[in-house]
Amino acid sequence: MSAAAAPDYNAMSDDAFRREARTFFEQNYPEELRYVLRRVRWEEIKGWWRTLYEKGWIAPNWPRDRGGMGLDAAKMVIFLEEMERHGVARPPDQGITQVGPILMKFGSAEQQAFYLPRTLSGEVIWCQGYSEPNAGSDLASLQTSAVPEGEHYIVNGQKIWTTLAHDATHIYLLARTDRQAKKQEGIGFFLVDLKTPGITIRPIRNIAGHEEFCEVFFDNVRVPRAALVGEPNQGWTVAKALLSYERLNIGSPRRPQYALNRLERIARAKGLFTDPGFVDRFTALKLDLEDLAALYARYVAQVKRGEPLGQDVSSLKIWAMETWQHLTELLVETGAEEGVIAGVHDIAGVETDFLSPFYYARPATIYGGSSEIQRNILAKYVLKLPS
Ligand SMILES: Cc1cc2nc3c(=O)[nH]c(=O)nc-3n(C[C@H](O)[C@H](O)[C@H](O)COP(=O)(O)OP(=O)(O)OC[C@H]3O[C@@H](n4cnc5c(N)ncnc54)[C@H](O)[C@@H]3O)c2cc1C
Repeated sequence: MSAAAAPDYNAMSDDAFRREARTFFEQNYPEELRYVLRRVRWEEIKGWWRTLYEKGWIAPNWPRDRGGMGLDAAKMVIFLEEMERHGVARPPDQGITQVGPILMKFGSAEQQAFYLPRTLSGEVIWCQGYSEPNAGSDLASLQTSAVPEGEHYIVNGQKIWTTLAHDATHIYLLARTDRQAKKQEGIGFFLVDLKTPGITIRPIRNIAGHEEFCEVFFDNVRVPRAALVGEPNQGWTVAKALLSYERLNIGSPRRPQYALNRLERIARAKGLFTDPGFVDRFTALKLDLEDLAALYARYVAQVKRGEPLGQDVSSLKIWAMETWQHLTELLVETGAEEGVIAGVHDIAGVETDFLSPFYYARPATIYGGSSEIQRNILAKYVLKLPS
């Protein structure tokens, strides 16, 4: 079944749209996948992808004539808030959030015609091949090379921390096309089928025991020239086109709010609200979360007014991720001996998994640009401190 044509949701009132989204998630999202504290695998989530696709809701950010919902910024925020409210897991959606918009802006007609419908239907699942063992924060120093040879590029090198590469069919890849050019200028953006000979994917098991990301090796991989998006040295511009919006998305207070709710329930069950030391720490974190909600609301209002986000949105990412981590740290402490043992514990009738939220929050100050890098951005562009 193909995707339904979406009605014009932007013409609805915010309240009516919120109700419709809420009802749809409540009635259709699989109960067992609510608030999963890890990245879900394709096998688990593909049914939900199908449901969204058939409803015409798989791509809220894409225009309606491309099979998306065509939501404006205000409706988009509502949609994301309702997903988070119901604990809807993030599917492997890099094709929807990143590749689709990139192809609509920079892709050839052939690339668009081939990839956009397949990305919507889930026939093509994307993973992001940017980071390398020696190129993370300093991404522009990446070394994977793409050397032209006839009608192909020959790709050699290694990517790492590639989220869910083992569930993907394709990778969007940054590779060096010109070693003589300035770092940022000699990079190409490629669309590569992961079945191409010479590609090896090796999953990495994280401390929580989940294989969420992988190493991806390229050994003389022949990639057609038609796989290049935009100009040979334009990859940096292509890759950077969408970053500030991602920081708004990542700065939502929902995940820390969920951690606070769990902390509150378990603290009540353990009678910790009679301990002034605990009350002090709990209250400080609750206020941090209220500050976060206020900051988030300010940026959401800015997006709703149609104003672009500036570099100062980095403060939102820092505050959201660090507050989330502090809450999950206190949750582990609150669990005492059970707090450091994996699995679900029954504490006075309240079932709690202390470690999973802690592990889930741990990398949040690294991905999407680390806290240190966000602070550098604030120092340079917002505070204009001398470097
Ligand atoms: C859960 C998770 C999923 C990920 N998924 C993907 C993916 O799908 N695709 C992909 O390409 N990548 C992915 N990444 C990789 C991510 O983008 C990198 O981890 C990130 O860019 C940091 O790079 P790095 O790990 O090499 O650390 P480094 O850049 O080596 O940094 C190490 C430490 O040094 C600090 N540091 C570095 N430079 C500076 C500086 N100039 N000033 C101050 N401090 C600095 C950093 O903040 C950090 O604390 C993922 C990472 C995680 C944790």
